[in-house]
Amino acid sequence: MTRSIRPLVAGNWKMNGLKADLAIAAEVARGYDAGLKAAVDLAICPPATLLYPATAALIGSRIATGGQDCAPQASGAYTGDVSAAMLADAGAGFVILGHSERRALHGESNATVKAKAEAARTALLVAIVCVGETQDERQAGKALAVVKKQLRGSVPDASTAATLVVAYEPVWAIGTGLTPTAADVAEMHAAIRAELSRLLGKPAAAGVRLLYGGSVKPGNAAELMGVANVDGALVGGASLKAEDFLAIARACG
Ligand code: PEP
Repeated sequence: MTRSIRPLVAGNWKMNGLKADLAIAAEVARGYDAGLKAAVDLAICPPATLLYPATAALIGSRIATGGQDCAPQASGAYTGDVSAAMLADAGAGFVILGHSERRALHGESNATVKAKAEAARTALLVAIVCVGETQDERQAGKALAVVKKQLRGSVPDASTAATLVVAYEPVWAIGTGLTPTAADVAEMHAAIRAELSRLLGKPAAAGVRLLYGGSVKPGNAAELMGVANVDGALVGGASLKAEDFLAIARACG
């Protein structure tokens, strides 16, 4: 963790969740007690269809909600897309951008992610920009270079630093039960902080929350959250179980 940074644990529900699953959000809210509130911020990123009711269900809990993607455009003839302003209007405070599933399955380039992050800033959303290498890239010794290139291409200018979160999510760790070693996470997060310093200036970069994501579970959260420059977690599968999500949050406290 970085002492001066308040940690954030964000749940990415992906394409999971119907109205009945708002009970998970309500259970998280019940478990977000005074001790946790003092220690860690929480955000739940449900599918877009649940953003408004999830925000309503979480009123008074101090748990934020977020979208999982937004369009780079503000409005117009973009059938099926959702703008950043629409997410904000539905109650979101955050938006996940450039998740590896979007990059791989929807062909999102760094430039697209950057344009979306700029749209998020305009809508006053905090952008959680995801970066991470594939298994082949790590095995080829290219992980650091790949992630630095993603940062250079995806992160907007210094004016967005206050509304920027970066999530390091090795693609091979997502949904697989595999995680990097603590030493590898430490090396990567230090490199991300250094690259952000070059891009945004040192003072701004020092305040950016760097999340680790990829198979974070109650059993490994304490070790991962204890790594230098890890300021919280982006949690997929385990965010669909309130007790697991809360246990991960407690590991940040
Ligand atoms: C994710 O998809 O952002 C993620 C971290 O997934 P999981 O925790 O399931 O690996």
